[in-house]
Amino acid sequence: MTELLQQAFDSTNFRAAGHQLVDQLADYLAANLHSQQEQVYQWVPPEEQLDYWQRFLQQPATADSLFSAVLNRSMHLHHTHYMGHQVAVPAPAAALSALMGAMLNNGTAVYEMGSVSAPMEKIIIAETAKAIGFDRTAEGYLTSGGTLANLTALLAARRQQAADDVWENGQQTRLAVMVSEEAHYCVDRAVRAMGWGAEGIIKVPANADYTMDTSLLEAAYEKARAKGIQVIAVVGSACSTSTGAYDDLEAIGSFCRKYKLWLHVDGAHGGAVIFSAKYAHLIRGIHEADSVVIDYHKMLLTPALTTALIFKNGGYSYETFAQKAQYLWEKGEDRDWYNLARRTFECTKHMMALRVYTLLSLYGVQLFDDAVTTLYDLGIRFAAMISARPGFELAVQPRTNIVCFRFNNGQDDEAVLNIRNSNIRKRLVESGHFYIVQTQLKGSTWLRVSLMNPFTGEKELSALLDAIAEKNA
Ligand SMILES: *Cc1c(COP(=O)(O)O)cnc(C)c1O
Repeated sequence: MTELLQQAFDSTNFRAAGHQLVDQLADYLAANLHSQQEQVYQWVPPEEQLDYWQRFLQQPATADSLFSAVLNRSMHLHHTHYMGHQVAVPAPAAALSALMGAMLNNGTAVYEMGSVSAPMEKIIIAETAKAIGFDRTAEGYLTSGGTLANLTALLAARRQQAADDVWENGQQTRLAVMVSEEAHYCVDRAVRAMGWGAEGIIKVPANADYTMDTSLLEAAYEKARAKGIQVIAVVGSACSTSTGAYDDLEAIGSFCRKYKLWLHVDGAHGGAVIFSAKYAHLIRGIHEADSVVIDYHKMLLTPALTTALIFKNGGYSYETFAQKAQYLWEKGEDRDWYNLARRTFECTKHMMALRVYTLLSLYGVQLFDDAVTTLYDLGIRFAAMISARPGFELAVQPRTNIVCFRFNNGQDDEAVLNIRNSNIRKRLVESGHFYIVQTQLKGSTWLRVSLMNPFTGEKELSALLDAIAEKNA
């Protein structure tokens, strides 16, 4: 045993540093939630940031000096002016359970290493499946992010749908999925990673409201068939990332039934709406899906990465990576649900179930309804504020907490507007007073917010519009 190892595992040091860290985070929480902190973010050019951390390593550090520097230089999601990317503002209890999971490090691949987290996963999946409207044959698991979950769902779809056994023999035929042109880029990436090439991803054009134009599915399908390509699945976006548009899952579902295609719903962001009594109607038809992805680490107050992948026919979740293609699960009770690595892409995995289970056990599923409903309400209120304010324009009427808009005094052409809005955002982010993002819609640049913090209110949104008008000056 070396002295250094002794030091690294010293429980007295751990206790002191831990108490100090929790105190610091509690102060951060209180100050940021109530806008007492001036800046949401301290912007520094990337090279300068790199230089800082290189120099930091050359000096003697304590846990306290390190954690303070990390806190000061990170984006503060708990600040009410955080309105940027779709990442959850974690509920503190979920963050504490993530710390506990990091210390225990039970890798969850096999039962003994997941004797707490595997049953928790099963319970969380059952709760989520029930909210989707699946019956008790549904099963699934938690995995590391929507990107990996979408890839895994498409691998499962290929297993069930492809005419040949790709897992065993490699790909002999041409396969494709159909998806809206507004879908998250990870669907495109998954298809190309599976080796289907550009022809494997058939992008269906969107309507004016950025939902998939489902009237074009039939023609796109026939065109692929004529080229000898087997379409195996349609992916519905619920909702899309840039504008928060929900595809018509009922229309896509009946198309899938007609041609016996797999319906996958990418609900990474907006699948959480199943928990909202007020807004669940946005995702009507989701119970028709063969597989559904929902990120807990977006709308559901959970630290990243925590994603559910749920199959309507739970048996399919066991077959994706099975070595023998014809391995059939005859009796439900034979399924070793507790040996999770058999079904997940990951081998070792964080005890991610603990984070969600903590929220369910302390607050109940109502917390998820409160979070989604509060944030979607806020998006709609913000849109009304934008419409009422001269000099501002909405890209599209939002139905969620994602709002795209721009400064437009009616005097500039598109090219000038694009530059103007891009500059406004740059100045705003560099000032540290607000964090918002931007997106390209039909070739134009729009400001974009995802209202992720339930403590953001009209006062902050009004201050944002003031700041934008001011940054334009
Ligand atoms: C965020 C998002 C993803 C990617 O999920 P990660 O958890 O970031 O990997 C995929 N699809 C949609 C619709 C998303 O909003």
